[in-house]
Amino acid sequence: MAWEGVIKTYKEFLPVTDKTPIVTLKEGNTPLIPADRLSAKINKGLKIFLKYEGLNPTGSFKDRGMTMAVSKALEEGSTAIMCASTGNTSASASAYAARCGLKCFVLIPHNSIALGKLSQAMIHGAKVLAVRGNFDDTLEIVRDITSNYPVTLVNSLNPYRIEGQKSGAYEIVDVLGKAPDFHAIPVGNAGNITAYWKGYKDYKQAGKLSDLPKMIGFQAAGSAPIVLGHVVEDPKTLATAIKIGNPASWKSAEEAADSSGGMIKAVTDDEIIEAYKLLAGLEGVFVEPASAASVAGVIKYAAEGYFDDSQGKTIVCVVTGHGLKDPDRAIATAGEPEVIDNDVEKIVERLRLKK
Ligand SMILES: *Cc1c(COP(=O)(O)O)cnc(C)c1O
Repeated sequence: MAWEGVIKTYKEFLPVTDKTPIVTLKEGNTPLIPADRLSAKINKGLKIFLKYEGLNPTGSFKDRGMTMAVSKALEEGSTAIMCASTGNTSASASAYAARCGLKCFVLIPHNSIALGKLSQAMIHGAKVLAVRGNFDDTLEIVRDITSNYPVTLVNSLNPYRIEGQKSGAYEIVDVLGKAPDFHAIPVGNAGNITAYWKGYKDYKQAGKLSDLPKMIGFQAAGSAPIVLGHVVEDPKTLATAIKIGNPASWKSAEEAADSSGGMIKAVTDDEIIEAYKLLAGLEGVFVEPASAASVAGVIKYAAEGYFDDSQGKTIVCVVTGHGLKDPDRAIATAGEPEVIDNDVEKIVERLRLKK
């Protein structure tokens, strides 16, 4: 049967009715990919899966929440939506707005978002303003404007975003037949860890799983407010999608980690890039740097023995966005191609091929 998108597929778990006008790009249904070569490298006894969210229509998990937020905005008679964004929220909001004729206003931190994401917001026709400030500043302005003007906020403070994003958890359980033992995830504004935890709990309540996973979230060391226990005024990390110093869903992220028996920890940019290269080179899975934080965390804590008593257990790492979002980072990491003359012999020699 053709995939109908997350709202139609999971409507019994979502705040929609038959009257809700569904705006969908058939998001969701992303593959859960076994990462056997990665498992073998990290710890042979673990069974690691990658939930490859880069395969959503606009290249990140944000589409799961945006189909809900935009459908509900339309249902409630809104004519315009607005978001602050480190990039992927704006890519998703602008696409879903285009699809149903809503206006879309986007505030991004100037010079701080990856090229692929900016190109999406521009081509879908959003009004994009690059603010001289960081993400937290832009979110503050968007909260202010959307509470004073007839414009719907579609950041993850919008509860429908979280509702839609729960679908990632449902899909994982639908494939595995149970929850994983550990759920590893990058944490930025902390909406996604909140959503997955809610999704697993929904499924438990519906009798679709018995044991909940331990939620293990990873922030970038230079922007790790939840780990540090205080707001980070000037967050720094090359993983721009999680470069957030004052997460909107801070408390619920802590609640997810604490009540599941998990944790929220930091990984350095070097550890993120190492995981980014491993995913691409060992598994053929190209993600943007922020996405690799989940895998970086698993590698780091496996080395520290965190999983030693978990032989045979399953870990799902959510890899949140596609690598093509940030092509500059891929080239900066892997280098430029060597240039060579148009000459078979020279090329064969350079490739060291022997008959
Ligand atoms: C938005 C985003 C994150 C962070 O998700 P939060 O819900 O803000 O914690 C991580 N990775 C990518 C690729 C994203 O787009």
